[in-house]
Amino acid sequence: MSGSAGPQFRWLAAAVAALLACFGAFTGGAQERAEIPAPVVRLAYRSLQPGEPLLVLLESASTVRSAAVTFLDRTAELRPAPDGGGVFAFLGIDLQTKPGAHALIVKVVKTDGTVERVEKELLVVDKDFPSTKLTLKAEYVTPPASVLGRIKRESELIALAMSVVTPEWLGDGPFALPHVAPSWSNFGQRRLNNNVLQSLHTGLDLRVPFGESIKATNAGRVAMASDLYMGGKTVIIDHGLGVFSSYGHLSELLVKRGEAVTKGQTVGLCGSTGRSTGPHLHWAFKILGARVDPEAMLRLPL
Ligand SMILES: [Zn+2]
Repeated sequence: MSGSAGPQFRWLAAAVAALLACFGAFTGGAQERAEIPAPVVRLAYRSLQPGEPLLVLLESASTVRSAAVTFLDRTAELRPAPDGGGVFAFLGIDLQTKPGAHALIVKVVKTDGTVERVEKELLVVDKDFPSTKLTLKAEYVTPPASVLGRIKRESELIALAMSVVTPEWLGDGPFALPHVAPSWSNFGQRRLNNNVLQSLHTGLDLRVPFGESIKATNAGRVAMASDLYMGGKTVIIDHGLGVFSSYGHLSELLVKRGEAVTKGQTVGLCGSTGRSTGPHLHWAFKILGARVDPEAMLRLPL
């Protein structure tokens, strides 16, 4: 992996140093008899806040038989990183994660069979997301009873499609914008109706004109290409390792489920299908089910 991240997102030396110190203490213990050196773990994140993705990288993978990381009740196997640069995994701090200390646990089985387990507390700090007041009447925010079954069934299908973790990285370098367009920077926006939280905006809206090409943010495989009641015509791409991107309210679907896509390939055309008030792209990411900010995904140092 190259270090060509934007200025706001790179491998954080402070956090890395802290984790290395943790590993150093562990490997210096009396129970350590093997000649095999301790693997070096690095973390990369923009900030430790709700809606932020993290990368966990283990160098010196030749001494590692298998490794897994657990954080916020999600466990990810570390798998080969691009360019032979060790093994790595993606993690996400879900949009609604409560601030506070959360343990990150790395369990490594080395080639000699010995197991190392390291725990590090990461402090997730609060984030002020934008909020907006809804002026819609109840009948517009509450779908008619006749479609509730369809909405439930579709949300189950989406969850099912995103629950399959492909055990290899399908991506090709860093994530890219699906269309070069200004965004509303509205990821995580709280939508209040009479000051009661009505809904959370779990993606990022891009001001893309009607009919323009929407491109795959990275290489992967199409996990879903369907016309949904809420999201309208929607494409979901599996990038491997539990990372999924989705593209909603399209006017046309140009890929099919199961199809391999390259980074930058047109997957659909911008539209306003589903519950949308005008042409735009609703772009969203999940990492092992955690909802994370697409703008942060763009800056992951891949
Ligand atoms: Zn949206």
